[in-house]
Amino acid sequence: MHKYSVICPICKEAQDPMSLTCSKGHDSLLHTSYKTSQIVLKDLPGIWKFYDWLPVNGIIPEGSGKTITYKSEAFAKEMGLSNLYIAFNGYWPEKHASMMTCTFKDLEAFPTMQRLLEGLDKRIMVVASAGNTARAFAHVCCITGQPLLLLVPQNSAHRLWTLQDDTSSICLVTVEGDYYNAIELANKVSVREGFVSEGGAKNIARRDGMGTVMLDAVLAMRTLPMHYFQAVGSGTGGISAWEASIRLIHDGRFGNALPQLHLAQNLPCAPLISMCSGGAVTKEVLHEKCPRDMYDDVLFNRKPPFSVNGGVRDALKATGGRMYGIDNAAAAYAHQLFEELEGIDINPAAAVAVAALMEAVKNGNIGHNDSIVLNITGGGMQRLHRDHNLISITPDMRVSAHDPEAELKIVEKVAEKFKR
Ligand SMILES: *Cc1c(COP(=O)(O)O)cnc(C)c1O
Repeated sequence: MHKYSVICPICKEAQDPMSLTCSKGHDSLLHTSYKTSQIVLKDLPGIWKFYDWLPVNGIIPEGSGKTITYKSEAFAKEMGLSNLYIAFNGYWPEKHASMMTCTFKDLEAFPTMQRLLEGLDKRIMVVASAGNTARAFAHVCCITGQPLLLLVPQNSAHRLWTLQDDTSSICLVTVEGDYYNAIELANKVSVREGFVSEGGAKNIARRDGMGTVMLDAVLAMRTLPMHYFQAVGSGTGGISAWEASIRLIHDGRFGNALPQLHLAQNLPCAPLISMCSGGAVTKEVLHEKCPRDMYDDVLFNRKPPFSVNGGVRDALKATGGRMYGIDNAAAAYAHQLFEELEGIDINPAAAVAVAALMEAVKNGNIGHNDSIVLNITGGGMQRLHRDHNLISITPDMRVSAHDPEAELKIVEKVAEKFKR
């Protein structure tokens, strides 16, 4: 038997391991079934320690970042919590945290690109992103030299920086328009021959990569936590935490109760909250106001994988989970308090999760002695800027979302840049 197989949760049939969808057309997120049911940490750098439960047959050794889980003291004390663990994703040298693009998107990008490498897949990866995902994929591709086509909205281009000198494997296209214009264009290009889409939540490498946050936390705590807090846009991190918890229960050494998911979104741009309450997602929120004025626009996703089998709804249901709507003022307050007490800067998105934890304490959703994991999905960016010389990635071209020739122009640019 191979290291893993990829299964449709509806028909339970094994699928082509690189497939993003069930061959029978079921509306489901395929998931990975690993041969090893008890995880043994490998003596490998970063995320690859969790090699047993990553859908790869090799590693990118430079991918040396992983989650760092530690027990909170100052912030926990302020909250009156005795068992609060921080799962920190980012850069924090004193804690040996070296996720060099400063968010947990690194955990998705490395396994995804490793799988293309081992499949000898020479297609060009297409990623549309407003920031953190783009930076993470750019980072990996600068290391491996794999070609990458990035489409980012014009006003997010400043988020595209790297520590790598050689950015020649990246073709960066800025799109005049919003994130959705960038996604639309990316979708059109990625179905063309010679291109491949990263697949979002459907990609098992992304989910199992993100699932290592829970693995790291549980191996540090030696038990499954009762609660897991995270700020979500698509909710993929929440799904991943749930899936990792199921594996950890089957492992047998860490308890048998699923951690309850506490997922936070930024009000008013919170489609998952509307979906949970069965309400309609208002057009006004989706098309006019959002993601403008959000505390962090990485938390906005117009089409989160909610009702698909194995998606956010199932994850919340299975874990007795809840959603939190956090406004900007609550996020800002939590942001400042956390940074002051824990001594590291965090991404605005992570502050939304901190605010949700504060609300849960206030409302009595969690007990003072409950074991809790707080996923700080991004942090240490200011610290990294102080310690390192960051290089901005120069755009290769700029297109207008309304230009009917935009797709063609991009394809030509890619051909020229990568000599294809
Ligand atoms: C992407 C992102 C999130 C939200 O992740 P999901 O895909 O919704 O789980 C949260 N925080 C940061 C810093 C991110 O980059």
